[in-house]
Amino acid sequence: MDAREAYRALHDPLSLAAQDGFKRVGEFASLGTALTEAAVRLARAVPEADAAALADYARELEGFDAATTALKAQLVARGLRLCADLRGRRTSVQPRATPARAPATGTVSLDSPLTSLRGIGPALAERCAERDLVTVEDLLYFMPLEYRDERTVVPLAEVPEGRRVTTRGVLRDVREKRSWGKRRVELSVAAEAGGEALLHGVWFRSYPGLAASFVPGRWVRLSGVARRYRDRLQMTHPDVEPADAEDLAGGVRPRYPQVAGVAPRRLERLCQAAVARFASEAMDGIPPSVATEQGLPPLADALRVLHAVGEPVDSEALGLLARGEHPAQLRLAFDELLSLHLVLGRRRTEWDTRRAPVCTLPPPALEKLRGCLPFALTGAQERVLEEVWRELGQSRPMHRLLQGDVGSGKTIVAFAAALAAMESGLQAAIMAPTEVLARQHYERLAPLCEALGHRAALLTASTPQGVKRSLLALADAGQVALLIGTHALLSPGVSLPNLALTVVDEQHRFGVLQRFALRERGDEGLLPHLLVMTATPIPRSLALTLYGELDVSVLDEKPPGRQPIETRLLWNPRIERGSEAATLLAADLAAGRQIYVVCSLVEASEELEVTDATSAATRLAELFPEARVGLVHGRLHAFERDRVLGAFAAGELDLLVATTVIEVGVDIARASVMVVEHAERFGLAQLHQLRGRVGRGGGASRCLLLAGIARRSTAADRLRVLTRTEDGFAIAEADLERRGPGELFGTRQAGLPRLRFADLTRHLRLLAEAQRAAARLLALDPELSLPEHQAVRELVRRRWDRRPLPGGEAG
Ligand code: ADP
Ligand code: MG
Repeated sequence: MDAREAYRALHDPLSLAAQDGFKRVGEFASLGTALTEAAVRLARAVPEADAAALADYARELEGFDAATTALKAQLVARGLRLCADLRGRRTSVQPRATPARAPATGTVSLDSPLTSLRGIGPALAERCAERDLVTVEDLLYFMPLEYRDERTVVPLAEVPEGRRVTTRGVLRDVREKRSWGKRRVELSVAAEAGGEALLHGVWFRSYPGLAASFVPGRWVRLSGVARRYRDRLQMTHPDVEPADAEDLAGGVRPRYPQVAGVAPRRLERLCQAAVARFASEAMDGIPPSVATEQGLPPLADALRVLHAVGEPVDSEALGLLARGEHPAQLRLAFDELLSLHLVLGRRRTEWDTRRAPVCTLPPPALEKLRGCLPFALTGAQERVLEEVWRELGQSRPMHRLLQGDVGSGKTIVAFAAALAAMESGLQAAIMAPTEVLARQHYERLAPLCEALGHRAALLTASTPQGVKRSLLALADAGQVALLIGTHALLSPGVSLPNLALTVVDEQHRFGVLQRFALRERGDEGLLPHLLVMTATPIPRSLALTLYGELDVSVLDEKPPGRQPIETRLLWNPRIERGSEAATLLAADLAAGRQIYVVCSLVEASEELEVTDATSAATRLAELFPEARVGLVHGRLHAFERDRVLGAFAAGELDLLVATTVIEVGVDIARASVMVVEHAERFGLAQLHQLRGRVGRGGGASRCLLLAGIARRSTAADRLRVLTRTEDGFAIAEADLERRGPGELFGTRQAGLPRLRFADLTRHLRLLAEAQRAAARLLALDPELSLPEHQAVRELVRRRWDRRPLPGGEAG
C-alpha cells in the first residue's frame, strides 16, 4: 500500500470523528482498533523518523475504545495533528493546501484570509484551514460547542462536593504514573504559592504531554466536579487552563471545537476578536420584515451572543443556549433553512415555467406489458402508475417522489413509466447509485424492452470505451429508447435529444441538488419529467426538507406472498466458533438455505471495510468447511462482482460475504438468511434495507443482527426496534428520534444537505416556518430581483453555490 493510501486510511476516520467538534467521537464502535491498525500501517509506509511518532501514537490508541469521550477527542486531535505534520513535511503524501496570503495592502473584509488578521501567521492559518477556517467570515460562523459558566470563581478553600464549579489556584505537584499500560496523571493545587494542597486533579488515562503541560508554580483555573476520595478533595479529569490576570473576572466562556495544534484559549481569543470587529459586517440577508415576523434578532447581535462577546450572558440565556433554543441560535438555523428552501423553491418555480414532452401509453402497449410480467401489479403499483401516466401525458413537467419500502416493487413502476416515453417515440433514462444496481436493472429491464420492441442500453464507468462510443452515438441519434446507468449518465458526452423522463433510483445516495443534473440533458426548451424513487421511508418532517419541491407518491403495499422475517438480536458481534450465530447458521446451511453475511461498516474507509470483509470470508470458510463461500466488496472489478453475485443467484454459493454494496436494491430471491456483523454500527433504516434483501422468495427467512454492545444500553434498545417491526416508516421515525437525520441513511450516503446550524430533530417547527417564509418571498418576487431581496439572493448564492454541494459522491 502506498503512503498516500495509508495516510488516508488514518486521516479520514480521524477527521470524520472530529467533525462537529468531536461530537461523534464516541459513536463509532471499535474506532480505536481501526485507527491503531491504520497508524501501524502508515508507520510502515513512511520514513523512520516519522514512523517512530506514529508507532507511539498507535500504542496510545490501544486504550482508545475504553477511554472517556474527552480522552478520545484528545487522541483524535493528536492524530490529526500528526497527520498535518506528516503532510506538511512531505508533499509526497498529499499536496499541501496553502491558504491564500494576505494582500500586502488593502482593507480586511469578511472574505480576507485569516493571515490578514493580526497575530495569525501562515502556520496557524494552516492549522485552522484543517477545520475549514479559511476566511475571517469562517471565524464568525465557527460555533462554540458549549458555554462554561465561570461567572463565579469559587475560592479554592470553598470548593463544594458534587457540583461543577470553577476555581483557581497554584499548581503544586504534578505526577505521572504508568501501570497496566495506562498513564495516570495527578496534580495538586494550592491557594497560593507554597501553600498546602487543597484540591487534587486526576486523569486515569492520559496521553504523553498532558503531565508536561502542567508546570508547578503556575496559576491555573480548574473546572469540574469535586468529590471526596479518602481524605482529600479530588476532581476527575478537570478542565485545566492557565490563568492570567484577566481571567480573574470570570464570565461565560464559549468552548470551541478543538482545532488540532491550536491552544483552546488562543482559538477563543481569535474568534472573539473577529466577532468583535466584524460581526456588524456579517451579511444579514434576511429581509427585515421576515426576521421581525419570526421574532429573531439581527444577525450581528446573534453572532455576538453566540460568541459571548459584548453584553454578559445571563443564566436564562445560558439555559437556552444549552438547549439550542436561544433566539441567536434560531436565527442562524433559520437563515440556513430559509436559504435552502429558497434554492429548492426557486428550482420548482423555474420548472413550472417550462414545458415537458407529452408522453402517452397506448392501451395495447400496456396490455402487452402486463402479458410480459410474471405477476399482476399490486393495487398500490396500479394507483401510482395512474398518477404518473396522467402527469406524463401533460406538458407540465412532473416532479414526483416515489417512496416505497424495500421490495415494494418500484423497479417495474419505473419501467412502466419509461414505457410511456418509449411508446411516444421518446427516450427515458434510469440512474442508479451503484454499478451493481444499474446492471441489475438493465438485466431485468432489457428483455422487457426487447419484448416490447424498444432498445435499452447500459452505461457505467466500466463500459469499455469502444462500446461506449457506439452507444453514445446511438443515444444521440435517438435510437436508444431506455438508457440505464450510474452517475456515468451525467458525464458530458451523454446526449439524449429526446429525453422525456428521468428516473433516479435510490435517490438518497445522490445529493439533494445533484438529482436535478440529469434533467437538463434533454432538448433545449423542453424539461424532461422527473421521477425520484427512494426505498428509505422518510418521516414526513424530513421529507419536507429533502423533497420540499417534489410531489409524493407512496407504494404502501408489498407484492403478495411475502413471509415475515424472523429477526433476532445476538450479543456477539461476529460469527465465531461456538457462538449462537454459528450454531444457527450451521443448521441453515444444512437445510440448504443461502446466507448473506454483511460485514461491519467502517465509515470513511472503504479500504478497511474491504480488509474486514476479506478476513471474514476466510474466517467463515474455516468455520463452515462444507459451505461454498463467496465475497463481494466495493473494490472488486464490476465484472468480478457480477460473477460472484451471479454465482450466488444461481445457487452455486451458499454463503455470500459482502460489504454494504449489497445494501441497496440487490434482488436475489433465493437467499433467505441475512446476518449483519457489528449491527450497532449501522443506522436502523440501513439495517432495514439490508434485511429487505431476504424474504423475497416466499419461504421462511431470518435476519440475525450481531451486536457488539451491552444488552442493556440505549444502543441495544435502538436495535430492538427492528425485532418488533418490519414497517419501514416506524423504523425510520425511531431512527430519526434516536440518532438524528444525519444517521437516518447511514452517514456515507446521506443525501441530506449538510446543515451547520439547524438541527432537524430540534428545529422542525423552524423548518416549516422557513419553508413558508421562502414560499411567501418567492410568490412576491420569484427571481429575487427586487432591490430589497438582493441581500437574500446573495445569501443563497453564498450558502449553496460557494461550497461543494452535499452528498456529492454517488455509489
Ligand atoms: P424495490 O421497491 O425494493 O426496488 P423491486 O422493484 O426490486 O423492489 O421488486 C422486488 C421484487 O418483487 C422483484 O423480484 C420484483 O420482480 C417483485 N415484484 C414487483 N412487483 C411485484 C408484484 N406486483 N407481484 C409480485 N412480485 C412483484
Ligand atoms: Mg429497487
